Amino acid sequence: MMVLYLSVTITIIMVERKRWSKQSRTILDIIYNNEEGLTASEIYDIARETHPNISLGTVYRNLRDLQDVGLIRETTSGGVSVYFKHPFHSAYLECDVCHSVIPVDFMLNIGDIIRSTGHDVKRWDLKLIGTCKECLQKCT
Ligand SMILES: [Zn+2]
Repeated sequence: MMVLYLSVTITIIMVERKRWSKQSRTILDIIYNNEEGLTASEIYDIARETHPNISLGTVYRNLRDLQDVGLIRETTSGGVSVYFKHPFHSAYLECDVCHSVIPVDFMLNIGDIIRSTGHDVKRWDLKLIGTCKECLQKCT
């Protein structure tokens, strides 16, 4: 796991050197303060409370930048992009009825995998697709 923590630290330093704008900081905080994934328009609505002049285009641009440096990740649920915090420590449950996405804790020992295979792992994605509790209750 050492390898991953090091690479995340380096990423954050690079972002700060690139002049971290107040708006991208806000967007990052919004994503990190929500356990559930948010769509770009949900992020836009929350960001407008503190940055009334922010545009949806700015939100999309910042989401792309934050994703490029690996601070957030994107997954698709029912054809809509949903954004989450950090790329390495979570897996996601996806409901095939209501398309909700619920992050769950899941740890892969990526350091060991890198050492044993020599594969340069940059990110991973684990989606467990099924039916959520709420939808199951509606069915019975
Ligand atoms: Zn559901």
